Amino acid sequence: MVRTRFAPSPTGFLHVGGLRTALYNYLYARKNNGRFILRIEDTDQRRKVPGAVENLLATLDWSGIKPDEGPQIGGDAGPYVQSERLELYRQYVSQLIDNEQAYYCFCPAERLKQLKGWQTARKIPPRYDNHCRNLSANEVKRRLESDEQHIIRMKVPTEGAIEVDDLIRGKITFPVSQIDDQVLLKSDGFPTYHLANVVDDHLMQISHVIRGEEWLPSTPKHVLLYRSFGWDLPKFAHLSLLLNPDKSKLSKRQGDVAAEDYRQKGYLPEALINFLALLGWNPGDDREIFSMDELISEFSLERVSKSGAIFGVEKLNWINGLYIRNLPPAQLLSCARPYLDESLRRHNVKNRNYWNDERLLAMLIAIKDGLSSFSEIPQKTAFFLADTLSYEAPEIQEYLISPTSIPILTTLIRLIDEESIINGDTFVTAIKNVQKEIGIKGKPLWMTVRAALTGASQGPEIHQIAAIFDRETCLARLTAALNYAKSHLG
Ligand code: GLU
Repeated sequence: MVRTRFAPSPTGFLHVGGLRTALYNYLYARKNNGRFILRIEDTDQRRKVPGAVENLLATLDWSGIKPDEGPQIGGDAGPYVQSERLELYRQYVSQLIDNEQAYYCFCPAERLKQLKGWQTARKIPPRYDNHCRNLSANEVKRRLESDEQHIIRMKVPTEGAIEVDDLIRGKITFPVSQIDDQVLLKSDGFPTYHLANVVDDHLMQISHVIRGEEWLPSTPKHVLLYRSFGWDLPKFAHLSLLLNPDKSKLSKRQGDVAAEDYRQKGYLPEALINFLALLGWNPGDDREIFSMDELISEFSLERVSKSGAIFGVEKLNWINGLYIRNLPPAQLLSCARPYLDESLRRHNVKNRNYWNDERLLAMLIAIKDGLSSFSEIPQKTAFFLADTLSYEAPEIQEYLISPTSIPILTTLIRLIDEESIINGDTFVTAIKNVQKEIGIKGKPLWMTVRAALTGASQGPEIHQIAAIFDRETCLARLTAALNYAKSHLG
């Protein structure tokens, strides 16, 4: 049975690269009717960040990646948090000591530091010099009995090579001479990543280890550990890094890297997942829009690329915009609610009878074609909610401070006043009647009206805007623009 796992360390936020790793593990498990396991690797106590586990669980949950086994739901192979499994690691490491595959190392930190300094000064790659590897059994016993501080190291063979058969990268050979005697158990009794990761992948019966490329150098160490224990190897697949558009490693300096940032900025989880799925995987044709279920049925590791994938935020914006436009109205309103509330706060809107849900939804529908994320809502709705508009932009002045503006606005105000009902259609008819009455048409006519209603040269269709405002607001805006034009035209 296929069993995959996502094994984050709670050292901060969930990186978008981490979310992609989780996604590929999830897709692969689902596609193969397997199980997807979430395991928290928190054995590095110094790097643990308070709240990181909760944040991780919440972000995964938001993204729609649901583990079959994990800290919140449990499962047969639990506990799924490594700090709750310390006793197990000690048992397994003592098995290695008994088989002489591992040994106690009593070297004080000071000695190791000196060794490293000496090696660095001579440009030798820093590594342990196996000082304690051949201590006599009696000496080890004596030093343990006198409670000397120690760690446990793996006995790495001194020659040969380890071949890793990676599902994405093919065969990779690592000479063991490059691997020094790895620490397995630290002096605080906690396992290292290598030990805990291998023991857990074995006990949790992980069939496929799908993880980031940064773990590739650890893989030969893991292979050695599996051999020392006499366990079967899982299959390995190492995913390429996510890159900035300049091909450097994706970094905070060039944009957001936390999945949480995208959530807060108002990206839809379905869109982020769709986007991440395509960073390194492709369906073999030019389709770009996939629901989670479609991804599950299409995903395969054969179609995961070896080369790094560029995290292009424009593509994410495009996908997100598409998902926003496809939202049914009620969902559009509920997803946009926090951002609408922010808009209303910014403009100090008190009259919620006027700005009721119906009007807010109409406003959203009017702007949604131009939205790439919900966080743009406050800026895109500003002209609807503002008490007064600024007409200072040159492209506005071009139409308002022009000989045509006063006749256009005066005539339109009169026609609107005379109209019994104001809605999108009657407003547009009134504009057309202005053309009939005074003979001004085209851009000067329509842009003047747009400038007066919105203070901008671009935006939703005039009939949409007029349908959202009532007669009073339409008239107030036209009159304000008319007064502006008069004051500037003298
Ligand atoms: N705990 C490691 C991490 O933070 C897991 C690496 C692996 O998947 O083996 O990514």
